Amino acid sequence: MHSVVNLTVHGIGPTNRELDPGEDTTWVSVEQFEQVLDAVVGRQDVRITFDDGNASDLEIALPRLLERGLTAEFFVLAGLLGQPGRLEESGVRQLLSAGMRIGSHGWAHRDWRKMDTEQAVQEIVDANRFLGELTGQPVSRVAIPFGSYDRHVLGRLRQAKVTRAYTSDGGRAKPGSWLQPRNSLRHDIDATWANRVMDGTPPLPLRARRIASRTFKRVRG
Ligand SMILES: [Zn+2]
Repeated sequence: MHSVVNLTVHGIGPTNRELDPGEDTTWVSVEQFEQVLDAVVGRQDVRITFDDGNASDLEIALPRLLERGLTAEFFVLAGLLGQPGRLEESGVRQLLSAGMRIGSHGWAHRDWRKMDTEQAVQEIVDANRFLGELTGQPVSRVAIPFGSYDRHVLGRLRQAKVTRAYTSDGGRAKPGSWLQPRNSLRHDIDATWANRVMDGTPPLPLRARRIASRTFKRVRG
């Protein structure tokens, strides 16, 4: 396989927690979610990931994944488990025993480009260790919160022996790459979105944005 497409799901359906500013744009309906799953069935080149450890991971996503014979990787927030609208620790174990994979989305949903050293240890080292103890198996893959990274963040991840880092840069990925770009489901996707992401080139504005943001990251160093 030359390349894969990574998809990112955040929240699905109703929630009883207050969303962060702008977070509603990443939330999808059950119908939108099912349309994406139906498009993915039978595609060996597509990987599904979940960020934020929302309760909908277990309540809405898991049964629909299992129904379709799909597996996914769930990046949960170690420090927010058990909070309203989030997964409980028992929910993380349920996902795991249902054949899903657990990774880390950090501790408290911070922007990793703006951490001090102490926060970085909590977000990367402590979160991975905590989730490793919770699941009984090593957790060494992370999804970078808000897709926000620079060379310094990647250096910290390498130092912490992270084995795979998922971004939100969009486009296709090399299956074995350490850095894995992903494509986020958004509140306004239509029924054709998944097929367009899987088979087509992204529309020009997105490509231009990505090139611009790469340049920006390079300049920032
Ligand atoms: Zn997130």
